[in-house]
Amino acid sequence: MAIPAIEDHWAVFLDLDGTLLDLAPRPDAVVVPTGLIATLEGLVQRLGGAVAIVTGRARDVADTLLAPLMLPGGFGHGAELRDGAGRIRTIDTIPAMPADWAPRLAAEIATWPGVILETKPHGLVLHHRAAPQWKDATRDVLLALLRGHDDDFTLMPAHMAFEIRPRVATKGRAVRALMQAAPFHARRPVFVGDDVTDEDGMEAARALGGLGLHVGRDFHGGPAQVRAWLAQPEARHAAP
Ligand SMILES: [Mg+2]
Repeated sequence: MAIPAIEDHWAVFLDLDGTLLDLAPRPDAVVVPTGLIATLEGLVQRLGGAVAIVTGRARDVADTLLAPLMLPGGFGHGAELRDGAGRIRTIDTIPAMPADWAPRLAAEIATWPGVILETKPHGLVLHHRAAPQWKDATRDVLLALLRGHDDDFTLMPAHMAFEIRPRVATKGRAVRALMQAAPFHARRPVFVGDDVTDEDGMEAARALGGLGLHVGRDFHGGPAQVRAWLAQPEARHAAP
């Protein structure tokens, strides 16, 4: 589909990695491109604050990347929400992650060079981008951890990584929750994402009468195309 121009009555929900930011060899090596913060600031102004970040990243990581902005959104795939007034809320049914998971994984991957463990408040990720030969091993070790915890946690594939997250934490849930209050309420939700975990968010936006846009399928490119789209001037300011 052709991507429509952003409209003033939209509420925009944006994934971070692979959508606004180009993927990097390590999750801590992503680069925030020049101009992105200004683009987002402009969008916030134009949409009355209805711009949210919906990411698998922890909130503090997202805030550091987008500083000085502290946008509303869903963090840890929606495990934690920040509403339009800046209030933080954690899903009250979120299960505690077993305390031995991170140390067990750290010990396991000590002999797997290039595999990176990323821990989050409510989940964890094993990245194999720099060591694709360990892909199957990283999946298997996470599946082994999940045994007996299937009701609470699930394994999902991501870009060159496998992630364990709480089943109740989804990007769709984050979109639905944020859409219930100002400044999102009564706007048309538009979700942009690139990954398996984003499909929930796209689906939620569509179910609320909005759009779910996929970086690969709809933008036919990468984050650079998404950033250019976000930076488009308002139609009434466009050159004739
Ligand atoms: Mg992504």
